[in-house]
Amino acid sequence: MAEDSSDHRVRTLGVLGGGQLGRMMGLAGIPLGLGFRFLDPGADACAGATGALEQAAFDDAVAARAMAGRVDAMTFDFENVPDSTARAVEEHCPLYPPPGALGACQDRLVEKTLMDELGVAVGGYHAVSGRTDLLEGVARLGYPAVLKTRRFGYDGKGQAVLRDAEDLERAWQRLGDAPLILEAFIPFAAECSLIGVRGADGDTRFWPLTRNVHDDGILALSRPGGFDSGLQQAAETTMRRLMDHFEYRGVMTIEFFVHGGALLVNEIAPRVHNSGHWTIDGAGCSQFENHVRAVAGLPLGATEMHSQALMFNWVGAFPDRAGILAVEGVHWHDYGKAPRPGRKIGHATVTADSRAELMARAERVARLAGGRFPGLIQQLD
Ligand code: AMP
Repeated sequence: MAEDSSDHRVRTLGVLGGGQLGRMMGLAGIPLGLGFRFLDPGADACAGATGALEQAAFDDAVAARAMAGRVDAMTFDFENVPDSTARAVEEHCPLYPPPGALGACQDRLVEKTLMDELGVAVGGYHAVSGRTDLLEGVARLGYPAVLKTRRFGYDGKGQAVLRDAEDLERAWQRLGDAPLILEAFIPFAAECSLIGVRGADGDTRFWPLTRNVHDDGILALSRPGGFDSGLQQAAETTMRRLMDHFEYRGVMTIEFFVHGGALLVNEIAPRVHNSGHWTIDGAGCSQFENHVRAVAGLPLGATEMHSQALMFNWVGAFPDRAGILAVEGVHWHDYGKAPRPGRKIGHATVTADSRAELMARAERVARLAGGRFPGLIQQLD
């Protein structure tokens, strides 16, 4: 029998983080013949359903090193991997995406400075390491502005919109202990994200730009497609520049604001992303499968949409599953996590052959899901 020309030695992947993103990597990689090990501090981390779960803190370099010795390559499902852990892993096996990208994406100021160096457009920003910096920043950027912690912010946490001096005082009391960045408030027309993947051989592919709608800082809805080709090209050019810079391998996500007909980078995630979950049911190859393929050294799969798609995020509680599954074209994904307020516990992707059919189905799902969905879905028309 002919030898597999790909890197057939890769049999087991290790993943730092055992959340839903790791779980969906496992679900995508198992049919490829790969096994998975996950490192996570939680005894019930939901990725454990798809591989061996090793319980350890993320800064436990001994545990990370031990896992690296038992797998062929490692990756991660969250970006706050401590530098010491990444270095411990690299003593035993390759870590993808490369730790250089991790470092840059962990700190909003480092990230924005890199964008400037690479000639990529970002909104105005000002480094804040003391109260004087904050006052200078507001004088320079004006109100409204957004004050954010440089590190460990996600889903709108660790940030505050400043509309006046009163907001500034309140935000300073709350956030002032951490290194901060002040950003100009962008009155965007829309938010979107580009997800792309670069393989072991440098092959680079992109899924279509995806429009995102947030509710209270957390992603609520994502719908790919419908952007003009100029914006798609601009987004791809930006991502290629970043991927070349990092000699990247794996999936990358860039979140953009659409403002004045152009794109401004909001932030970069060196990983699979919530706004790409529709790719499981709507694209030739999902973000999870292509990420796993890239990490394992296998050829990449097609990123084209084969169906119109729209994703609903289930946060805190599930709506009526049976009622929603009765709508044609619904694909249900339960992460196996205990429901808790603000926690992402699952999603559903609605697919259809045409955009009109998609929106008719999605509006039915929005009505059944209730809450703010019927209002939020109007933003996608
Ligand atoms: P982030 O954690 O930076 O992605 O921010 C969460 C959400 O807050 C974004 O998806 C936007 O809806 C909003 N946001 C963040 N930064 C800005 C900004 N500079 N201008 C306007 N809205 C923002």
